Amino acid sequence: MPEGDNVYRAAQHLDGALAGKPVTRSDFRVPAFATVDLAGETVHSVGSRGKHLLMRIGDQVVHSHLKMEGEWHVYRSGERWRRPGWQARAVIEVPDASAVGFDLGVLEIFPASEEHERLAHLGPDLLGDDWDPAEAARRLASHPEVPIAVALGEQRNLAGLGNVYVNELCFLRGVRPSTPVGEVDLMPLVQLAARVIRANRDRSVRTTTGDTHRGRQLWVYSRGGEPCRRCGTLIEHGRLGRNDLELRDAWWCPNCQR
Ligand SMILES: [Zn+2]
Repeated sequence: MPEGDNVYRAAQHLDGALAGKPVTRSDFRVPAFATVDLAGETVHSVGSRGKHLLMRIGDQVVHSHLKMEGEWHVYRSGERWRRPGWQARAVIEVPDASAVGFDLGVLEIFPASEEHERLAHLGPDLLGDDWDPAEAARRLASHPEVPIAVALGEQRNLAGLGNVYVNELCFLRGVRPSTPVGEVDLMPLVQLAARVIRANRDRSVRTTTGDTHRGRQLWVYSRGGEPCRRCGTLIEHGRLGRNDLELRDAWWCPNCQR
């Protein structure tokens, strides 16, 4: 599942390929926006906010969210797509390139004047220029009974963390994922979250251990039953959520995280 750093990199890549150029053809393959035609409009910029991707074109914003399987690809004119055409949800062409969004979890188009309001539900963006750790800590603290791993993944508290970072941050702070927010020292945790995701922002390989070798990049995520890299205790696995319909996987070292 894409995390904020993936979306940030995707936005940078798209911005480099599209920004400043006129759209020569657009094709939105979702019913609500199938008639939208942005041909002739200029791509002003492509940016991200948390895990949301925003293409500002003419006086409109093309908003997408990658959810589980979504991706944007950039192709040179005439280049063969690397995913099947039926998975494409959006195609935006400029004179020398085309951007194709596959399997986007969310795709919508709205006037640029609504951008602020449409994204107002998001907490401070870990990768944004306006990142505000105190506000993120304040939002987390407003529900002290929620397990910390659940609260960290909720984008209205702070925007950009997916389940990999959530689990790794709990390990790095020595906190069990199930610990109620009210028992966690929040400022060091949110500041660490920003440091770790920013350190990975421009890397193609994500690491929280500092080791970029395959199989050694993460402390606990998806390592149930394997020995802790710090103490050798076997990593445990469980599921956590506000309710039974929204469970997320959690991994922790029972010795290092208390
Ligand atoms: Zn351990």
